[in-house]
Amino acid sequence: MKIIITAVSGLATVGLLWIFFRPPFGNNIVHLNTNQRVVALTYDDGPCPPYTDQLLDVLAKHDVKATFFMVGNQIKRHPDTVRRVIAEGHQVGNHSYSHPVLGLLPPSYVHREIERTDKLLRQIGVTGEIVFRAPILTRFLPVAWVLAKGNRAHVSCNVWSWDWTTQNPDRITKMVLGKVKPGSIVVLHDGKAINRKANRLGTVEATDRIITALKQDGYRFVRLSDVYN
Ligand SMILES: [Zn+2]
Repeated sequence: MKIIITAVSGLATVGLLWIFFRPPFGNNIVHLNTNQRVVALTYDDGPCPPYTDQLLDVLAKHDVKATFFMVGNQIKRHPDTVRRVIAEGHQVGNHSYSHPVLGLLPPSYVHREIERTDKLLRQIGVTGEIVFRAPILTRFLPVAWVLAKGNRAHVSCNVWSWDWTTQNPDRITKMVLGKVKPGSIVVLHDGKAINRKANRLGTVEATDRIITALKQDGYRFVRLSDVYN
């Protein structure tokens, strides 16, 4: 009997943990819904001059549009950079207000973090749908719950550049090119939420190389809303 009780409570715990960390409801977008050779480049944690501007120069050189998941307190510091991102035709998304480990916080806190950044983006002139990505991709139960209530998707990715661990452009480029396939959503960083001293020159250089290589391979680049709506 004791063994059965232990086994049942063990299974219940695993089940609850599973539901918490992998909520089985809501919409979690991991890749674009297409078989065509298209890729969405996404940049998190900005706006962060001078790297965001350098990145915009590279994207403009290649005539490529991308999606920027921005952090509210950075938007407040650098509104002109946000305006440039919008003016140059890129998509802007919400990446919380202060980049906490959002998935471990109560729903009311999650809601406030998302709302504050939505509001800032609207004030700056973002129109249409604002896509959302949780910091550190923590789409845990509180985040999934708040998003589902607002009928809103979570935008994840299926290609990690690992550019938050290295700024070696060779390694970032190799990592991304080795994983990209049709419909991939690639996560890179123009900002530096965790390591504030990090520079993003490696990401800027890698972006130049990634775009050049993928274009030669027949890929084109889209913003998230170009494909999944
Ligand atoms: Zn982030």
